[in-house]
Amino acid sequence: MFRSRFLWKLYAGYVLLILLSAVIVGGLVSRWIEQNSLEEIKQSLRARAVLLADLAAPTLSESSSSDFQERVRTLGGEIGTRLTVIAANGEVIADSREKPSEMDNHAARPEILAARSHGLGTTTRLSDTLGTKMMYLAVPIHKNERLVGYVRTSLALSEIDERLNHLRAIITLGAGLAAIVALVLGFFVARAFAKPLRSMATVAESIAHGDYQQRLPTTRKDEIGKLSQAINRMAEGSRNRMETITSDRNKLLAILAGMTEGVIAVDRNERVVHLNAAAGKILAASPEESLDKPIWEITRVGEVSQVLANTLRDKSDLRAEMRLPTRSSDQVVEMHSSPLRDGKGNVVGAVVVLHDVSRLQRLETVRRDFVANASHELKTPITAIRGLVETLIDDEGIAPENRERFLGKIRNQSVRLSSIVTDLLTLSRLESERGVLKYTALDLRDAVLASAQALVSTAEEKGIVLETQLPEVSVEVAGDNQAIGQVVTNLLDNALKYTPKGGQVWVRLRTEAAKAVLEVQDTGIGIEPNDRDRIFERFYRVDKARSRELGGTGLGLSIVKHIVLTHNGQVSLDSTPGTGSTFRVSLPLAPASA
Ligand code: ADP
Repeated sequence: MFRSRFLWKLYAGYVLLILLSAVIVGGLVSRWIEQNSLEEIKQSLRARAVLLADLAAPTLSESSSSDFQERVRTLGGEIGTRLTVIAANGEVIADSREKPSEMDNHAARPEILAARSHGLGTTTRLSDTLGTKMMYLAVPIHKNERLVGYVRTSLALSEIDERLNHLRAIITLGAGLAAIVALVLGFFVARAFAKPLRSMATVAESIAHGDYQQRLPTTRKDEIGKLSQAINRMAEGSRNRMETITSDRNKLLAILAGMTEGVIAVDRNERVVHLNAAAGKILAASPEESLDKPIWEITRVGEVSQVLANTLRDKSDLRAEMRLPTRSSDQVVEMHSSPLRDGKGNVVGAVVVLHDVSRLQRLETVRRDFVANASHELKTPITAIRGLVETLIDDEGIAPENRERFLGKIRNQSVRLSSIVTDLLTLSRLESERGVLKYTALDLRDAVLASAQALVSTAEEKGIVLETQLPEVSVEVAGDNQAIGQVVTNLLDNALKYTPKGGQVWVRLRTEAAKAVLEVQDTGIGIEPNDRDRIFERFYRVDKARSRELGGTGLGLSIVKHIVLTHNGQVSLDSTPGTGSTFRVSLPLAPASA
């Protein structure tokens, strides 16, 4: 409070005003009282003179007497005034202080001259007789309308001064006291103004620094109270606006951060204004450290800087594509840039959206390969069938045993064609009807048993021992019965297919943590490490001829993988070429049995 400059300035002005008023009012009052007092003194001198004149008139017409002198002396002493009675010729008849005989002629005294001519004479001068400064007042004495003399009353100025000084002292004291009271009151008044102003300054300062919580008391009803209310409203409004801006900004940042597309905004000087996480990943740059830096400084990917520079130069949208080499394959990024404009349409920067289309391109490649593979796989049996049928048609004299053989081949090829189409349809159904799978709680033991039983005869035919190892208690998973059955069948089918005569195949089921684990192990040909990842791809076969010969389509394992992933499970493989393979499928247990 005491550091408030405003308070001291206000108070200094106030002090100056009070002191000035005290001096002026004191001066004026003192002057007025002085004049009044002098006038009063004069009036009283006059009254005394007039009274004395009345008293002196008979004496003056007679001859002077020492008696009269004595009376005047006594009277003068009693009323504290020097009294002088002067004859018309200026001779002093009586004086209350001096002996008249020792006094010179007073005819030429200015007060006597003035009294003669104006009826009243007043002067203030050094007394020739007493040697002190005196105030003189003289009136003429008339008898029967004839001037017979003068009466003069006088008072020593020192006496008058003493009285006036006394008065001045009282006035000064009064003015001083009034000034002190006014100064003390003034301090409190000034403080009453300075305090709310200081609070307002503090609150305004807080608002400027972003603290919108501070409020001013609004109890006062005057302008200061209104100003406080206005500042409070301003703080409230600013807070609301700030909240809206912050929440909008946060929303925008959240949207930008959550986008899979990279977004980079630069200003007119190509300095980064915003760079989201996705863009940071593509350009291998840190979004935080990139801010305010020129775009060409933060990334080695020159294409992005180039596109932004071109957009700023041409002030128009641009589209471009770039390839960024990565360890596995090229990353293909589509860039779409646009100029950023302010409210007046001036270009103030540019924004580029980076769209990683590598996955799309990969999918497109997969799709193309799939179509090519599928066409090829379909075409092979069709070509074979067509050739055989044409031979049968063209060669009428074909030997019956050849005819039989050809027809057998045609049947085999049609079965193969049918298997491929069935598998393709299964795959397409799984892909397109992901949500249509009917999930029920099922005991995996049933699915394993059903599949194993269906393949028992095949195993016997091939001379392979098929052993099923199931737990005592049920192994419940949530899944589509038919799809899960297909997983077991495909794995068992493969195990039997790629295991030579005299081999052995085990199908096991157990629970591990919260998972059901299905294992299909064989003592078959095994799979080379290089092929292990790829055998789950569509149409991929280690040995095409062999697979085909065994009736394989190359789709069995991709169907398995697809179904397992759809059921939130995992599939893995251990294999030793020439010794055997173990396919392992794990599926989450249904909550009740987990
Ligand atoms: P296919 O219809 O040809 O069997 P799959 O998708 O079921 O197609 O299997 C892909 C390839 O993986 C097979 O062609 C085969 O080379 C290999 N394979 C699958 N299972 C086994 C296994 N148990 N032992 C050895 N190789 C296997």
